Amino acid sequence: MIEMQDVWKTYPNGAHALQGISVKIDRNEFVYIVGPSGAGKSTFMKLIYREEVPTKGQISVSGFNIGKLKPRKIPYVRRNIGVIFQDFRLLPKLTAYENVAFALEVIEAPKKIIRKRVMEVLDLVGLKNKANRLPAQLSGGEQQRVAIARAIVNNPTVIIADEPTGNLDPETSWEIMQLLDEINFRGTTIVMATHNKDIVNTMRKRVIAIEHGNIVRDQARGEYGYDF
Ligand code: ADP
Ligand code: ADP
Repeated sequence: MIEMQDVWKTYPNGAHALQGISVKIDRNEFVYIVGPSGAGKSTFMKLIYREEVPTKGQISVSGFNIGKLKPRKIPYVRRNIGVIFQDFRLLPKLTAYENVAFALEVIEAPKKIIRKRVMEVLDLVGLKNKANRLPAQLSGGEQQRVAIARAIVNNPTVIIADEPTGNLDPETSWEIMQLLDEINFRGTTIVMATHNKDIVNTMRKRVIAIEHGNIVRDQARGEYGYDF
């Protein structure tokens, strides 16, 4: 599903963010990416959704060689990957409905199909009755639910979540984790960078630890393993 072979990433300023990463993530896995700030976690994720390209090495996602992708194929691959961020990144002037619909409008899905599918995913995340609210009229947890609805509306095979609970209180964080667990259970691979020790140690999944741009630990049903 996701495979990296000796992947290196050096930014133009000379920062060596990743230094020879090799890893395989299978279909349907739920993987936590942990490690100190600046370790390379975000870069690891950005390479998967092709926000960045590797300096060296091979990355394949769902059979596509991501590093060598022809520009016209990029949207096609991106559609296959849903992304969720710590700061939600919703469009502030669009309603919850419109934020989710947007992802389908850009691929020119028929209006009737858009409406049906958007209400279906808003229902799945528990926000069907708040479809007309603007992001500012929703709580943080609700905004993250909208972002999750937007991420899954195209039926992606992979969800990349970069600290999805970083801005949420513990109780709301657990609600978001339950939702991600449910989405994983329905057949979507999830790769999630997190600093949330409680979540990693309670909701046990595969743990990949990155330090100084290298994978230093890879455990099935692992632990968080840090004091921060
Ligand atoms: P993490 O997500 O674990 O905090 P990052 O992947 O964001 O780590 O960063 C890894 C290293 O790459 C850090 O040294 C960081 O300063 C550097 N870095 C990240 N993004 C950029 C960028 N766009 N330009 C230059 N350096 C960057
Ligand atoms: P219900 O099944 O509860 O009747 P609806 O499908 O009528 O729900 O829609 C739920 C909410 O989503 C309503 O507030 C509705 O106005 C809003 N909504 C539905 N379609 C659109 C749209 N195309 N643009 C903006 N909001 C919409």
